[in-house]
Amino acid sequence: MLDTPIEYLKGIGPARAEALKLELGIFTYRDLISHYPFRYVDKTKFHKVRNVPNENLVQLRGVIESLQIVGQKQGKRLTALFRDDTGRIELVWFQGYNWIAQKLKTGTEYIVFGKPTEFNGKFNLAHPDIEEATPEVLSRQSAFQAVYNSTEKLKFKGLDSEGLRKAMRHLFSQLQAQHIEESLSEEVMNDFKMISRYEALKQIHFPDSAEQLQNAEFRIKFEELFYIQLRLLKLNKVRAHTIQGFVFSRVGQFFNDFFSNHLPFELTNAQKRVLKEIRLDMGSGRQMNRLVQGDVGSGKTLVALMSMLLAIDNDFQTCLMCPTEILAQQHFETFKTMLQNMNVEITLLTGSTKTKERKAIHAKLLNGELKILIGTHALIEDVVQFKNLGLVVIDEQHRFGVAQRAKLTTKNSVPPHNLIMTATPIPRTLAMTLYGDLDTSVIDEMPPNRKPIKTVHYTETHRLRVYGFLKEQIAAGRQVYIVYPLIQESEKLDYQNLQQGYDNLILEFPAPHYQVSIVHGKLTNEQKDFEMQRFIKGETQIMVATTVIEVGVNIPNASVMVIESAERFGLSQLHQLRGRVGRGAEQSFCVLMTGYKLGADSRLRMETMVRTNDGFEISEVDLKLRGPGDIEGTQQSGIMDLKLANLAEDGQILNKARQAAQSILDEDYNLNLEKNKVYAEQLLIQQKNRPNWSRVG
Ligand code: ADP
Ligand code: MG
Repeated sequence: MLDTPIEYLKGIGPARAEALKLELGIFTYRDLISHYPFRYVDKTKFHKVRNVPNENLVQLRGVIESLQIVGQKQGKRLTALFRDDTGRIELVWFQGYNWIAQKLKTGTEYIVFGKPTEFNGKFNLAHPDIEEATPEVLSRQSAFQAVYNSTEKLKFKGLDSEGLRKAMRHLFSQLQAQHIEESLSEEVMNDFKMISRYEALKQIHFPDSAEQLQNAEFRIKFEELFYIQLRLLKLNKVRAHTIQGFVFSRVGQFFNDFFSNHLPFELTNAQKRVLKEIRLDMGSGRQMNRLVQGDVGSGKTLVALMSMLLAIDNDFQTCLMCPTEILAQQHFETFKTMLQNMNVEITLLTGSTKTKERKAIHAKLLNGELKILIGTHALIEDVVQFKNLGLVVIDEQHRFGVAQRAKLTTKNSVPPHNLIMTATPIPRTLAMTLYGDLDTSVIDEMPPNRKPIKTVHYTETHRLRVYGFLKEQIAAGRQVYIVYPLIQESEKLDYQNLQQGYDNLILEFPAPHYQVSIVHGKLTNEQKDFEMQRFIKGETQIMVATTVIEVGVNIPNASVMVIESAERFGLSQLHQLRGRVGRGAEQSFCVLMTGYKLGADSRLRMETMVRTNDGFEISEVDLKLRGPGDIEGTQQSGIMDLKLANLAEDGQILNKARQAAQSILDEDYNLNLEKNKVYAEQLLIQQKNRPNWSRVG
């Protein structure tokens, strides 16, 4: 029954069905049922026309005195004068009015529901929901009446929120409990005191009370999150049971020598703990798939390096993969410095490595001579073959999807261990869904003696003051980054801004006293490298750049980060950029430059940056602001299928759902037991149905 095409539902028919498909992706009864309300209103209460100006949403009861189509062309509209016992208000329709005008009768009592808007000093209701106030309609008015998202096109066809609710009511009048298959086991339902799926769906659309609505929401959110977790954790379990891992049984010469003789500082407790987790993982006999989360500057590189030494200690090769060439270069330099005086072969391989050199590297990888390889995506090309690759570290910028990660592990017959480092922290709930198939370690402590970066927000009027400050800092021997946004869509304009900014800057900071580097995507790799090197060596004091330096560069003497048009950057990007300073002993600063007028979201982003240096806190705000849809890597994660659950708010439900999924799999990872049959079936169904949007167009 649920797979019945939507056109067969009473009151729908072919034309409306077509619109529902195109506008909301509703093809079947099942799709309509999961078009959940986006909020509820108390429809037992009626407002008075007199009070309309003070309300946000009103429900009025009264009669239409007159109807009139007025205006010309674009301004043509239907107006209705509506009256209750306290006054009159105009209802207005700009579209679909012919149809509506036919339907409405003067002198008949109506219920009107809508949002008051002010026009020419008077309030009116544009495109309100309107229904005749029959005894039947009045008796159904509920304290929790569903309000549905609709679209302009659907509204013209009578499918506004009210129309959708009517369709839903027809559907539920035919539906019985047996039509809706239960999708959770009795055990789980009992454990979490959940109502049945049928009951939940009924209550979400037609709640009997606040409490019933809450139960319904919990049940539906739980289920959405539960199946994502079940899928991810099952992947993890199956991997653990079917894929053998190399056993790194010893901590040997390389690790110990480095630890005792070459480590330039004490490890933080967090670094020690995470290293131990990694060591246990790699010694366990199963293949490691571990995510290391840590704030910018928390010392992830060192953890990577020491894990790689463990691989060498066990006679394996290891590689580190970075998202950009500059970062690969930087890591290579860091590793070389750290490992100097230790007898380890280490090499850099990127897109710009010369063919001759590349061939030599390939040979050394094949015969096992080369132990540590650092590079970009060039590393995972098929021509790159290792003798015995034991550990792959991915210093991540673009979040890889589950599927891409799976591909990486097929390089060997016994796949290498995987260690994945995030560039910036992501909220726990998001990590659990994007990386739910991985084990997670968190470096939740910063190296000691770091001075928190001071962040300020200025507008254009303060530019001279900012320049004055930069001069002071440069006079004190510091270096400065000035970063411009580069957004693909407005690339041309952005380069203009960058160039203009650079030209103005040069006037203010003239040679030879000041030297300014500039780096952007239009330069060749050699040019970029040349400019970078000048800055690293301290020959230039200012580095003007687009976001190419966003990831990872480490220049301790650079202590000021100026971010131009900061309102155009996302929070995690801002935080990542700010993390480029604060790496030395000096007090560091971040200056956010924006226009004077800011939207509410931009303002909150600036305030958040000024308030805190804590990347985890920032990532939570980011998730609330943007929602998970805009965050990289979410497309294939299942997050996009969430209809009711919200990762920014439903962390507790997510925890419960994950626990439930985990304990089911602990007992029965293949979902073979009779009581778990329902899960095996549901996973199959969902696999067939995902992704949802593929059915459209
Ligand atoms: P991220 O986690 O952002 O990759 P890095 O690994 O680049 O951070 O580390 C940032 C800086 O902190 C580096 O200069 C590194 O040498 C230094 N560092 C790392 N661990 C420690 C430690 N335990 N004590 C002092 N400094 C450390
Ligand atoms: Mg790093």
